[in-house]
Amino acid sequence: MKFQAIKGVRDILPPESALWNRVEQAARDVFGTFGFAEIRLPIFEQTELFARSVGQETDIVSKEMYSFQDHDSSISLRPEATASVVRAYIEHGMQTLPGNVKLYYMGPMFRRERPQKGRYRQFYQIGAEVLGPSDAPGIDAEVIEMLLAFFERLQLKGAVLNINSIGDKNCRPAYVELLRAELQKVREQLGADSQRRIDTNPLRVLDSKLEHEQAIIEKLPHIADHLCAECRAHYDEVKRQLALRGITYQENWRLVRGLDYYMRTTFEITAPGLGSQNAVCGGGRYDGLVELLGGQATTKGIGFAIGTDRLLLSLQESGAGEVEGGLDVYLAWFGAAAQTAAIKLARRLRDAGFVVELPAVEMKFGKSLGLADRLKARHAVILGEDELAAGVVAVKNLADGTQNKLAEQDLFSYLRASHASD
Ligand code: AMP
Repeated sequence: MKFQAIKGVRDILPPESALWNRVEQAARDVFGTFGFAEIRLPIFEQTELFARSVGQETDIVSKEMYSFQDHDSSISLRPEATASVVRAYIEHGMQTLPGNVKLYYMGPMFRRERPQKGRYRQFYQIGAEVLGPSDAPGIDAEVIEMLLAFFERLQLKGAVLNINSIGDKNCRPAYVELLRAELQKVREQLGADSQRRIDTNPLRVLDSKLEHEQAIIEKLPHIADHLCAECRAHYDEVKRQLALRGITYQENWRLVRGLDYYMRTTFEITAPGLGSQNAVCGGGRYDGLVELLGGQATTKGIGFAIGTDRLLLSLQESGAGEVEGGLDVYLAWFGAAAQTAAIKLARRLRDAGFVVELPAVEMKFGKSLGLADRLKARHAVILGEDELAAGVVAVKNLADGTQNKLAEQDLFSYLRASHASD
């Protein structure tokens, strides 16, 4: 029997894994400078946590979760991580910490979606959340600024920020009813999914990508015209705060996001090179979520989740996905005495940060140097009995074929200098 990875799930192999590491390290660096610290979360939680927070009627909970029975409780692989962050925030009494708590996470999420380019059943997210007493619009803007700073660090090109406000519990219900009433009038012209959503979640109809529904949706009432004074003021201030940071954006009244817990600010970032799955990041404010999950009603929240798989695809498509690396030195040795010296030299080179391949067994000269070539080593360092006797090493630059004899103490500076000029 030949085993294969499950449909929609994939291995991330070298050298691509080096790009993953670079992306994750950039997130740690950039988020760290904004005062965010990492939270490491479990991969599975009680099913009820997601049903309550993400929403029973969402596609994610109603048909995409991997759930299983564990004795007498139902458990699910996490389809997203905001619910877990909020659960942890409440469980560990983090509301007693000073100011707003700023956390980031990264790791796999699981949704049983139809696999295609940029859409997998095990996919990865890098996300951040701000939880605490303040819902100041400056927080929304700073979270978005951090996100864009991260994309800039990675030299992601062509990212477009879309923003919207979807109101709160004071103004949204009336808008949703209005939307439902308007949708009822055109029910027969809509597809099955949208028809179902008129009853379950009319806002989600605005998300529809179905060609024939577009003209109908464009005529529906805009939430911007139905925000209460507080939500309107909040949204206006978010936009002013973005402008203070020199951030450009598009307002998109149809950006409602698929998860139930969002309110007020929602945002999404699209990137080129991804086909139809072009959203690399989604986020928004979720002020009621902490209370919904049993925490204090006064705790506010905002966050985002970046689709790491898609971010990498976009970086690779635009040519920003190259990662420096590879083998610095292939240390060819010939004879038992040279092996002893090579083992020690390899260690000193590695301690100095060079990437070294040391053959485990002796090979003929041609075969050994051939392997160095195939491994794409920058240099072959050759240590035979003659070199040993003379107290030198031979260094061959494998790109241009030039060869030098150097005293061992000069080898390090030689390698460093040639590395720097690469
Ligand atoms: P969401 O948690 O649905 O708001 O999604 C946030 C981001 O995660 C999206 O913008 C995508 O970039 C990414 N994402 C969501 N679902 C998938 C999936 N099945 N495969 C790959 N990336 C995904």
